[in-house]
Amino acid sequence: MQLTAEATELISDLRFTQTYRVPFQFSRHVRRHLPVGAFLQSSSGVTTTDLDGNSFYDLTGSYGVNLFGYDFYKDCIDRGIERAHALGPVLGSYHPLVADNAARLVRLSGMDEVSFHMSGTEAVMQAVRLARYHTRRSHLVRFCGAYHGWWGDVQPGVGNPVPAHETYTLRDMSEASLRVLRNRHDIACVLVNPVQMMHPNSAAPADSTLVDSARPAHLDRAAYADWLKQLRAVCTERGIALIFDEVFVGFRLAPGGAQEYFGIRADLVTYGKTLGGGLPIGAVCGRKHLMKRFREDRPADICFARGTFNSHPYVMAAMNEFLRRLEEPGICGLYRDLDDIWDRRAASLNCRLRDAGLPVQVANLSSIWVISYTRASAYNWMFQYYLRAEGLALSWVGTGRLIFSLNYTEADYQAVADRFVAAAQAMLRGGWWWERPLASNRKIRRRILREMIAHRLSLHRAAR
Ligand code: PMP
Repeated sequence: MQLTAEATELISDLRFTQTYRVPFQFSRHVRRHLPVGAFLQSSSGVTTTDLDGNSFYDLTGSYGVNLFGYDFYKDCIDRGIERAHALGPVLGSYHPLVADNAARLVRLSGMDEVSFHMSGTEAVMQAVRLARYHTRRSHLVRFCGAYHGWWGDVQPGVGNPVPAHETYTLRDMSEASLRVLRNRHDIACVLVNPVQMMHPNSAAPADSTLVDSARPAHLDRAAYADWLKQLRAVCTERGIALIFDEVFVGFRLAPGGAQEYFGIRADLVTYGKTLGGGLPIGAVCGRKHLMKRFREDRPADICFARGTFNSHPYVMAAMNEFLRRLEEPGICGLYRDLDDIWDRRAASLNCRLRDAGLPVQVANLSSIWVISYTRASAYNWMFQYYLRAEGLALSWVGTGRLIFSLNYTEADYQAVADRFVAAAQAMLRGGWWWERPLASNRKIRRRILREMIAHRLSLHRAAR
């Protein structure tokens, strides 16, 4: 805690996450009385250990990178380092493994060509740039609430100090959006982040914004698949590039990602996170005509995309380990009955929570989970602290998203479920789910809005 307190003064990311972990009204008080350590010393199996030796079941999934367990990635990196060592960090020319990676990715994605980048954000930037270049149209379409990295064009609104002028944000799963796609002539591409199936038209939930219990947790896979099919049809009809942003869900839902899961082919697909075998990565896979960066008839008209660290030998070697192991029976086997396993686990936890009269439920897209609350309360965000006290590690969005790695055995999972129920019982006993009679989510939201306005006014007054 001491190190975290000191580092928070120096690391701006930490200062931000520590401040926005809970709704702003409680932020200062919580930082003082319920500090969360930012440092860990080790990981093993499905657990991590902090500097004081406390062990936690890892539900952060390292932003989704951790699909097969930390030991798997340690092996990918160790073996990758060995294989890349002779060449070392030589950039510009390629390590031979780059060619093998490209061949494997082309096979997995069903596309024709690949480009390698350093992050998911960059992969999305490149996919959009290619779509603009080839369609000679200016605008990208994204859907409400969808995250595609922190590049300005895909992040209009909160978080970006300047407006995104060449972005249309449309309603997800809406007939009206299909009409826009059909009628406008300036749309180059449509970006889809399939994790939005969990909460169409809303940003990923986080404890800092989830101050009431209004979010439904209900997934309609068939409806989302049907929506993607309609999008595919309109994009084909209008010559718009359909981009699946699989930085998060790629390899997680199925070896062939969302394309395989929903049975729909995109024109360009972006990957990242787990693909690097534990090292930083972004990749674009696409159809030949869309991946080309020059025109035969106009040599000066190119689509530029370079990056110093693209195709870094160590990253490529760790990726190669990842892609090779994907074909090994042990890893292949993890995909067998994948959804059934995680659906059953979520359903059994929901039963336990209901039977115990606890106002908490979970919904899941395979191994990606979201917690929802069934009773109006302004203190749901406290649940993250009860979960931590039970030895469950959450990412900074708290109960907004839990990400399991596929190496969770039944026994591991039962241990998590027991702790989860115990945490909810402790929170209930602690009185945090008490609300004044007749409280409603609407009233709670209004109260919070009033408090935010009062806070702003008081700051203004103090400044005068
Ligand atoms: N697209 C999606 C769907 C993502 O989930 C993310 C990361 N959360 C990104 C893009 C950006 O990737 P990175 O953080 O590697 O830049």
